[in-house]
Amino acid sequence: MQKGAIRVQTENIFPIIKKFLYSDHDIFLRELVSNAVDATQKLKTLASVGEFKGETGDIAITVSLDKDKKNITISDRGVGMTAEEVDKYINQVAFSGAEEFVKKYKGQGEGANIIGHFGLGFYSSFMVSSQVEIFTKSWRPDAKAVRWECDGSPEYQLEETEKETRGTDIVLHINEESEEFLDEHRIRTILEKFCRFLPVPIQFQGEQINNTTPAWVKKPSELTSDNYQAFYKELYPFAEPPLFWIHLNVDYPFNLTGILYFPKITKTYEIQKDKISLYSNQVFVTDEVKNIVPEFLMLLHGVIDSPDIPLNVSRSYLQGDPNVKKINAHITKKVADKLDEMFRTDRKSFEEKWEHIALFVKYGMMTEDKFLDKASKFHLLEDIDGVFYTLEEYRTAAAGLQTNKEGKLVILYATNPVQQDSYISAAKARGYKVVKMETMVDAGFINQMELKWENVVFTRVDADITDNLINPGSAAQSVLSEEQEGKLKDLFGKQVPLAGVKVELKGLGEQDQPVIVTRGELMRRMKDMAAMGGSA
Ligand code: ADP
Ligand code: MG
Repeated sequence: MQKGAIRVQTENIFPIIKKFLYSDHDIFLRELVSNAVDATQKLKTLASVGEFKGETGDIAITVSLDKDKKNITISDRGVGMTAEEVDKYINQVAFSGAEEFVKKYKGQGEGANIIGHFGLGFYSSFMVSSQVEIFTKSWRPDAKAVRWECDGSPEYQLEETEKETRGTDIVLHINEESEEFLDEHRIRTILEKFCRFLPVPIQFQGEQINNTTPAWVKKPSELTSDNYQAFYKELYPFAEPPLFWIHLNVDYPFNLTGILYFPKITKTYEIQKDKISLYSNQVFVTDEVKNIVPEFLMLLHGVIDSPDIPLNVSRSYLQGDPNVKKINAHITKKVADKLDEMFRTDRKSFEEKWEHIALFVKYGMMTEDKFLDKASKFHLLEDIDGVFYTLEEYRTAAAGLQTNKEGKLVILYATNPVQQDSYISAAKARGYKVVKMETMVDAGFINQMELKWENVVFTRVDADITDNLINPGSAAQSVLSEEQEGKLKDLFGKQVPLAGVKVELKGLGEQDQPVIVTRGELMRRMKDMAAMGGSA
C-alpha cells in the first residue's frame, strides 16, 4: 500500500483559477476591496486588544484609476504584510490568512467580521490583469515595506521597497481584454453594486461610495420607524413606502441578519421579484435568492445577510447547503410570527392592510405547509359588506346554516360582486355569508384549501346552493302552482341550454329575485378549467 500527499502542478492550476473560479469578471474588485476591508478590520481588532498601540489614522480605503498607465489601485491603511506574510498568504494559493486570524482572535476585542474564507480571492485579480504589484507595510513597529510582483505565471518577485504609510496598495495592470474596466463609470457601478454597505469607508474619485452602517446591522431597538422607512428609500428610491417590515436577527444555529419589507400590493401592482439582495458580512453576493427565500416571500423586498453563505455561491451550492434550508425555514417562521402578532395586537390595522397582503398570505398557504398551519389562524375571509372573518369565525357565523349533506362547512363566495349581485342578494336574504374571492390566486386557493382545510368546501354564490345545503333557509318558498313552475322552467331551460344548469323559481319575497338560474359548482369549475385550457 502507498500513502502520500496529492501534489499540485501550479502551471496547471493557475489557468483554472484564473478562468473558472469566477464566471463574472466584475468580482475582482469585490475581492480586492473585501481584502482591504479585512485588513482594516484586523487592525481595529489588534488595536482593541492592545496589540497595536500606534495611531490608526484615517482608515478609508481608496480605489483609483489611471487610464494612461492602465492601472487600477486599491489602497488600504490596514494591517499590511511583512515579507514572511506575503510569502505565506499570497505565494501559497488557497491559504487564507483570514481564517487563521479569525481562529486566533475569536471572542477577543471588537470581534470584527472578516470576509475572507478560502484564500483564493486575491487571485481573481489575474482575470483582468497582465501584472499585479503589491506594495505593503505591516503594522509591526520595525516592519520593512515590501513589493511583490507577478505576471500571472507561477513565478513571482519579492523585494524590499520604500513605503511611508502602513497598509497595502494593490496595483493592477489591466490586460488588453479587460480595458472595459478602465472606465470611471464602470468602476463606480461595480463598487456601488458590491461595496455599497461595506463597514469601512471606501472612496472613489474623492467621494465615499458606501454607507458603513446600514440599518440591518443595527439593533432593532436602536431604530425608529423613520429609520426603517429611510433605509427602504435608500434601497429603492422610486418605490412607494412599505406597509411594514421584519428585522431578522439570529445568531444560532446560524448567523442571519436582514430586513424584509412588505410592499403594498394593490390590484394594479406589478409584481417585482428579485427584490431581495443577499449579502455576506455586508458584501453584496446576489439578487437571486430563489433558494434561500421561500418562493411566496419573493414578493418581499429588502436585504438578508449571512456570513455562513460564502461569497462565491453558485446556485447548485445553495440548493445543497443545509444552512440554506434552515434559513429558508427560519424566514418563513419569522414572517408567519410577525403577521400573527400584527393580527393579534391590532386586528383593525391588520384588516386595513389585508388587501395588500392577502395575495402572498394565500400563496404562502398554498405552497408552504408550515406557513399554512400558522396562517390559517390569521387568514381573513372578507364578506360582501366588508366584514372580516377568520375561518373559525366564519364557521361559527355560518353554523347550522351553511352545512352540506356531508356535514362540511360551505363557504359561499363571489368572484364578481357586480355581476353576481342578484345571487348575492338572494343568499344574504337567507342569512348566508358571501365572501369575496376576486384575486388572481383565488381559484387555486379554493382548490387547495378544500384539500388542506378539514371539512370545508367552497361554492360560488351562483351555483345551485339550495341543493347542497341541509337548511336552505326560509325565504325560498315558491308561490307558483306546479303548472306555472313547469312552464317557466321549460322556458328558461331552453334559453340556457347548458349542462348542469338549473332554473329555480323563487318566492316573491322582497329581497328575492323571481327567477334564479344556477349551475352546479362542480360543473362550473370543470367548464372554467376547460376554458383556461385554451382552444382544445
Ligand atoms: P482570503 O481573503 O479568502 O483569505 P485572499 O486570496 O483574498 O483569501 O487573500 C489571501 C490572504 O492574503 C488574506 O487572507 C490576507 O492574509 C492576505 N491579504 C490579501 N490582501 C491583503 C491586504 N490588502 N492587506 C493585508 N493582507 C492581505
Ligand atoms: Mg479575500
